Amino acid sequence: MKLKETDGEVYGLLTKELDYQKSTLRLIASENYTSRAVMEATGSVLTNKYAEGYPGKRYYAGNKYVDQIETIAIERAKRLFNMPHANVQPHAGASANLAAFFAFLEIGDKFMGLELPHGGHLTHGSPVNFSGKWFRAVAYGVDKETEALDYDAIRKRALEERPKLIICGYTAYPLIINFKAFREICDEIGAVMMADISHFAGLVAGGVYPSPAGYADVITTTTHKTLRGPRGAIIMGRDEERGKMIDKAVFPGLQGGPLEHAIAGKAVCFHEAMQPEFKRYAAQIVKNANALAEELSSQGIRLVAGKTETHLVLLDLTTKGITGKDAQAALEEAGIIVNRNTIPFDTRSPFITSGLRLGTPALTTRGMKESEMKHISGLIVKVLENPNDTELKLRIRGEVEELCKKFPIYADLSY
Ligand SMILES: *Cc1c(COP(=O)(O)O)cnc(C)c1O
Repeated sequence: MKLKETDGEVYGLLTKELDYQKSTLRLIASENYTSRAVMEATGSVLTNKYAEGYPGKRYYAGNKYVDQIETIAIERAKRLFNMPHANVQPHAGASANLAAFFAFLEIGDKFMGLELPHGGHLTHGSPVNFSGKWFRAVAYGVDKETEALDYDAIRKRALEERPKLIICGYTAYPLIINFKAFREICDEIGAVMMADISHFAGLVAGGVYPSPAGYADVITTTTHKTLRGPRGAIIMGRDEERGKMIDKAVFPGLQGGPLEHAIAGKAVCFHEAMQPEFKRYAAQIVKNANALAEELSSQGIRLVAGKTETHLVLLDLTTKGITGKDAQAALEEAGIIVNRNTIPFDTRSPFITSGLRLGTPALTTRGMKESEMKHISGLIVKVLENPNDTELKLRIRGEVEELCKKFPIYADLSY
């Protein structure tokens, strides 16, 4: 029986969500549209299988095909990111980071990450998260003037605090990270270098962002952001010794049965990311982010760090007299989906914020280019300047729908 016949309630909402994703402009920097092939693998019979353990060493019978699929995913991940070891089982980015901590730290150990309001992730030491509750988190920040990482200041802080592990790789940082500088700092104090490339893994795979391979001891990444795969994550190690520690931490350390349907989706995603088209895709993401940044800036909006070198642009709305929260809501009414974000040294709470984070991965998947980014920037500025003008927002909603029709996504998909 099809979902449509057995569960009209869920079916109806799924259909609405599909329409909504097709007819709105998605500028959430951590979102994307996966391929139909990735969705087919993810929505497959593999969801029926228990496979605790690793290929060739399972605790359940009947894994002859599952083993081959997981092995393909592992080998592709290693090749794609040029790392000697990969574990493809983590359910999400947060659980991958938990596993990396479990592998390399003891409870109560000190580690260092970027401060949350400066672009760090919750799992990098926030006091409300396991990383801040179970470990001693110390933070480094961006420079107040440049809003960029200051590697001398990070080194100084690392020498003072002597953390056992340092994380680089962020959620809302628009510039390229100097991985070599982090390696040198870690070597100086004997710390583990962990790179969390969740946001820009697709840019690394596409060759438009430097890789931490060759520098980092451990790399974690989600697979569903710029990498355009299914929801999930992977962890990679710089050698077999670290690989063993990672594998033990994931299973039996933290997880039971792996989500083999998601692992199949990851395998398909890695294959797609190795194709020449993906290089062009990654390059276009960055070109689009630059076009968005330049146009918004020329229309009087201040960019954090003054520019972007990645897939995301961080806007400071302080002088526009609107909070991140209100801006997000007004844009949503106009069919432009973004998220509010703190900016470095934000005076507002993380629930209100003074900033917006915009990303181009999803729009680029639809085939949009620089001229569309300029057009969309104009729409965004109009809404930000007139957030309470209902008529204007409705008119823009119509314009957004027209634009979406010109760049269709999932045209032949139905439930
Ligand atoms: C998104 C993200 C995560 C968390 O991923 P989830 O799948 O949402 O758990 C971790 N670290 C960074 C840097 C991220 O951007």
